[in-house]
Order: sequence, then C-alpha cells, then structure tokens
Amino acid sequence: MLQLQGIPVSPGIAIGKASVFHSEGRQVTVSYCTAETAPDELAHLSEAVKIASRDIQESRDSVAGSVGGQYGAIFDGHLVMLRDQKLFDTMQDAILKEHFSAEYAVHKTLHSYAQVFQSIQDPFMAERANDILDLEKRILRVLQKEKRQIQQFTEPVVLLARNFTPSETVAMNTDFVQAFATEVGGPSSHTAIVAEALRIPAVVGIGSFIDKVEDGCLAIVDGSAGVIVLDPDEATLERYVRLQAEKQTLGSKLATLRELPAVTLDGSEIQLLGNIEFPNEAEACVEAGADGIGLYRTEFLYLGGDVPTEEEHFQAYRHVLETMGDKPVTIRTVDLGADKMVDALSATVNGKQQKIGYCLDEDEKNPALGLRSIRLSLKRTELFTKQLRAILRAGKYGNVQVMFPLVSTIAEWRQAKMILEDVKEDLYDRDIDFAENIPVGMMIEVPSSVLMIDRFANECDFLSVGTNDLTQYTLAVDRTNKDVVYLYNSTDPVILRLLDITIRASNRARKPVSVCGRMSSDPRCAMLLLGLGLRKFSVSPAALPEVKNVIRKVNIAQCREIAKRALLMESAAEVNHYIWREHAKLFPELSDF
Ligand code: PEP
Ligand code: MG
Repeated sequence: MLQLQGIPVSPGIAIGKASVFHSEGRQVTVSYCTAETAPDELAHLSEAVKIASRDIQESRDSVAGSVGGQYGAIFDGHLVMLRDQKLFDTMQDAILKEHFSAEYAVHKTLHSYAQVFQSIQDPFMAERANDILDLEKRILRVLQKEKRQIQQFTEPVVLLARNFTPSETVAMNTDFVQAFATEVGGPSSHTAIVAEALRIPAVVGIGSFIDKVEDGCLAIVDGSAGVIVLDPDEATLERYVRLQAEKQTLGSKLATLRELPAVTLDGSEIQLLGNIEFPNEAEACVEAGADGIGLYRTEFLYLGGDVPTEEEHFQAYRHVLETMGDKPVTIRTVDLGADKMVDALSATVNGKQQKIGYCLDEDEKNPALGLRSIRLSLKRTELFTKQLRAILRAGKYGNVQVMFPLVSTIAEWRQAKMILEDVKEDLYDRDIDFAENIPVGMMIEVPSSVLMIDRFANECDFLSVGTNDLTQYTLAVDRTNKDVVYLYNSTDPVILRLLDITIRASNRARKPVSVCGRMSSDPRCAMLLLGLGLRKFSVSPAALPEVKNVIRKVNIAQCREIAKRALLMESAAEVNHYIWREHAKLFPELSDF
C-alpha cells in the first residue's frame, strides 16, 4: 500500500482501477489494431511523422530567426533521426507484423532506441536518448490529438498522470473517469476549476509518484482531504468505502435545503449564486437552488482550440440566460492567458494558424503578468467586440450583467466600458436587437484595484472579488505551482484585510459586491466572509448546499466576532486553525471529513 498527500482541488471520494498516463498526460499503454486496420494505422503514422517533421522545421526556423542559426541547428539532429528510414521501418513492422496501434508502435520503438543510447555510459549518448524521447512526445502529440484518447475509456478508471491541462481535463469522459491525481499543479489552477465543474474528485501537486505505479492497480482518490492510496490494504479500503457511503448520505440530506432560503438565524438574507464554466452547468445551478449566476467563465468556449464565432458565443449565453429565467447571470468577458487555454491562444482564424495571445513571436516569460485577461481583450478588440455583441444580443433572453476580469487600472476599466458603448452604438445603427441597460461590473483580482477601490466602486454597477488571483498577485505566488503552495492561502490575513477594505468601500458606495474566488465555495470560510460584511457569495454549484447549510445555522453578530479576531491574526495557519475549529463546533458530526 502506498499513501500519498497532495493538494485537494475537487471534492469527493473515488475508488477504482488506475490508468496511468505518461508523457505529460498522454497515455501509452499497449494497444493493438487488426490486419484489416493496420494499413490505416500506418497511414496515421506517416501523416504524424510528416506533421512532426514540419513542426520541427518551424521550430528550427523560428529559433534561427530570433537567436541565430547555431541554435536553430539543435533541431537538425531531431530531423535527421525522424527521417531515418530504418527507424520508420521498425515502427512500420510493429504495425504491419505485430499489429500494434500506431501510438504503441511509436512508443515501443523509440523507447527501445532510447534505451540503447542510455546504456552507453557517455554524456553525448545520454543526450541523444533525450532527443529520441522528445521525438516520441512530438509524434504522440500529433497522433493523440486526432484520437482524443482521454475520452476513449470503456470502463471506470482513476487517472494518474504527471499533469493534465485544462483542455485535457475537459476532454475526460465523466461516464468513465471517476477521479484523477497528478504530480504537479496547484490549488485554484484552471485544471482544478474544470475538475470541480465536471465534479471529478481530484488531487494535484502530489510530487513524483507515477514511476512507482502499476497500471491497473486499485487506487483511492480522496479529493476532499487531498490523499491518494494505491494498492490499499483491507482496513484502509473498508474505511474509504464507509466514508464514501457517508458522504453520499450527507449529500442527499443537503439536497433537501434546495427550496429553503439562504437566511441567517437573525434574518439576514444572503444571495447565493453559482459559478459556471460550461453552459450546461446552468441546469446544475437551478438544481441546487442558486439565486443566479455570479460568474460565467466564458474563456472555456475556447477549449476546443478554435476562436468561437459570434453565433457560438451567442448560443451559449442564450442557453444560460434562458435556463436561469429572470435570475441574474453575470457573464465575465474572456480571461484567456497564463495557465488558461494557452493551446487556444494559438488558434485557427479564417483558416490560418495565428497566435492570438502574444504580440511577440516568442512565448512570454511571465505569462501571469503578461498579456492575459482584459489586457488581451483590449489588444485584440475584434475578439472582444465579437463577444460583447453576443452578450448584448443574448441579453434579450434573460437578466444579463457583464463583468471585466483582472482590471488593474482605471484607464483599463474606462477603455473596456467605452468599447462596450461603441458596440451598443453599432448594434443600434444596424437595427439589431440587444439589451441596452445592462449592469457592468469588474473583478477585484489585483492589489492595485483594491487600493483604488473607492474610484472603481463609484464607476461600476457591481464588483466581484476573485480571491484566486488576488491571492496569487498579493502574495506573489503562482497558483499552479505545488512548490510554493505553502504560501498560497486565501485566508492569509493580508487577503482578509484586502477583502475588508473592498467590502467596506463597496457598501459605502452602495454597490453590490460578491466573492467568486474559490474561497467562497469553502463552507469553512462562510462565517468569516459573513463577518467581513459579505452578503453575496458566488460558489461552485456542488458547494452551494454546504455553504447554504452554514448560512442557515449562524447569526451575523457571531460571524462579526470571528472576522474581527481573524483580522488581527498573523498567519494563514492561525486563521485556518481558528475558523476550522469554529466550523467544527457548528457541525461536530462532520469532523471525520
Ligand atoms: C479568481 O481569480 O478568483 C477568479 C474567480 O477568476 P479565475 O479563477 O477564473 O481566474
Ligand atoms: Mg481570476
């Protein structure tokens, strides 16, 4: 039995057969074709080799152009290997004679070549082995893109990998993928957000373990505690089977709260909204009894890898608005960049491959501080206006609000608003129906916007605090990096102070303010946030019943006392210890979780 601790990012317990993915999330287990399909597999292989070869040439030319020919020449070695007839013949034989799939033929052949080089005790040869493994990755990347292998399970599995990108996570077929666990990744990463949206229990940032796992072994993923257990002994397995059943019972009990209002014991009415990434999650919000949608993360429309058309934007928004009826739906304009949809940043526009994210040909060195979010929208106004047109048009079908992400200066906010006004004017001139008076708000995600909050609160119709990014930018800690996760904590007193400033200023300006970062989905933070004056929570639909359960069991005076004490503390550890204890007092029966 092997028990490992990681970072819990999507709650729930799963027990199932492990399927191990190697090569950054790409699975290479043995798979076969038949004599009839072997020629097709060979054709796939030839095509993939051609594409990989073109990719390498492009990398060579671009490196040569930017830093000089001698660096571009590094890729010549890869090209020579890829064009080696003997190598191709070996892969071809593996398909035609042994009837392996193209992927497995590539994996098997290149691994045996790499092993030969690795066995020679010479640093130059070891380097060649790395080149061969790099080639394998390139060819597999092409082959697997075609097949979207993560969707292709036929039995329940628990996925174990080094990493999954948000696009790989969304491609997981939830009929079969029971849970996943990865070596890297951090809390509030976008992979984590997708996992939660799909309700797949997940643990990330476990550190190196993939090499120790047997494909097919029994695996337990506890996405609430951040624990995974491989090959559990009988007692451990029994304990988790019992915990799983208890969680299900608790879930059914909480579901009965659906019809009841989110009101504290002393009568304060709290607005409880849902966060969604995909249009069909609107149904989950209705199901959970949400008062509306406080955050619709529209960048997930880019997950397919293409830039959505105005009609695709419009249809998605119309669906959400119609599903929510007269309840408010806050559509956040795209927040692309950093770890979000970087694949989509290089997308096909009018049949041509274009980098839509970067203004330079080179990749950004500091993407979290670079051209992401509203900055990207203001630079690529044709993408921004297309989305705004769709939002305004869809606004006729419900109660829409628009929100801009990662605003860091007043100028940025005003520019975004001005573009919105221009789009309205254009729709008006063209006689196209649209919702004219929609509330416009912004996210508070960087310390600069908190420090200028009085100005922003005067100009905005509403505000929403994104504690995921606010934590990342205030504490200078990458939200996706497990090595600095000990610093990443939205309950750090510094974040509580920023929340305190923001909520007070918004209340003074009589502008509604919510928290839509992950913090508000954690029921253990609910009393603290209520005590800071928050009356509007936007949470993942799965967390909604638990948060409501807390709200209905507390009074505001008690919460104020908790917030007052927490604000005086010095560390996140101290705050967590305190608020978890207070939460445990409310729910003594939950201490096991
Ligand atoms: C946040 O930063 O808290 C937030 C809600 O935005 P996202 O997680 O999509 O970056
Ligand atoms: Mg954010």
